[in-house]
Amino acid sequence: MSGGIEFANRRSRAGEYLAEQKLDALLVSALPNINYLTGFTGSNGLLALSDAEAWLFTDPRYQVQAAEQCDCKVRICRSSLARAASTLARRKRWKKIGFESTRLSFAASREVQGALPSSAELMPTSGILERLRSIKSEDEIESIRHSVALCSEAFSDVLAGIRPGVRECELAAELDYRMRRLGAERSAFDTIVASGARTALPHAEPTSKAINSNELLLIDMGATLSGYASDMTRMVHLGPPPQKTKRLHRAVLDAQLAALDAVRDGVTAAFVDRQARQLLRTHKLDALFVHSTGHGLGLEIHEPPRIGKGEKTLLRAGMVITIEPGVYIDGFGGIRIEDTVVVTRTGCKILTEAPKELLVI
Ligand code: ZN
Ligand code: ZN
Repeated sequence: MSGGIEFANRRSRAGEYLAEQKLDALLVSALPNINYLTGFTGSNGLLALSDAEAWLFTDPRYQVQAAEQCDCKVRICRSSLARAASTLARRKRWKKIGFESTRLSFAASREVQGALPSSAELMPTSGILERLRSIKSEDEIESIRHSVALCSEAFSDVLAGIRPGVRECELAAELDYRMRRLGAERSAFDTIVASGARTALPHAEPTSKAINSNELLLIDMGATLSGYASDMTRMVHLGPPPQKTKRLHRAVLDAQLAALDAVRDGVTAAFVDRQARQLLRTHKLDALFVHSTGHGLGLEIHEPPRIGKGEKTLLRAGMVITIEPGVYIDGFGGIRIEDTVVVTRTGCKILTEAPKELLVI
């Protein structure tokens, strides 16, 4: 759990950035960013942040909750939050007001601009808070560790009961239920369960297809616990796997290990991505690896940095990322192996404890 002091520290770090950029204030509209800066977990909010103060605007449904969760000023609004924030900006005589250009809708930005005096200017910003969030505190890493452990436990509980004939959607529901029973607020994203040739769809949605004997099974799942996400992919085979499947799994696992081996403070995200691709190239499989090697995660399931081609972002100690290479053969099937890891000064610490060999049941 994050304490009040941590929220105040985060806001003061964001405030330093505002001063550097010569912004009088920042309007924070992304709910995970508001959560990060104030602790507020409601579904409607707008935060106005200056280098000295913060005001959360929300609606009457959250009057009690906001007062309990937030250590900043709270304004309960019966109509538009954007207009209420503009009124504050007018009163404070803010001239340069940043907004989250990738997070605030065009309509809402027009509404804010419309309510501001003509002397005030809305300035687009992007990624300010996401960059701050990308390096996790010890408390945050601990929260992610618990989320990862819960996910692994739910996986192994459900794995024991998988039988031929169970449908993909039933298995996905079982995994979600188990995560909730173990204390998760929810699954961190729609659980992926794919079987047979459907494993070749990197983002398969579970269907009513039955999982048969002698089929490959891909499970990609994550929990949200105390607000923090986990993310794991494991491969299962019902019955003895054929040579081709074993070979593919070995190649992907080697690629995953090569990428994990490359992770450490100071390397670029692209460098890590390249290690996985180069390993797959030695098996002539690199063309079948159609997505990036991984992504940051925390309050959201996908956060910067992206671990992909051309990504110049330097990995830093305290970042939490996934490493998840995969190969996908249309008509045959796909293999992906994914762990959640913390970047350290000299390497990385793998948080995911579930075994990652091809599980045969
Ligand atoms: Zn995943
Ligand atoms: Zn992932």
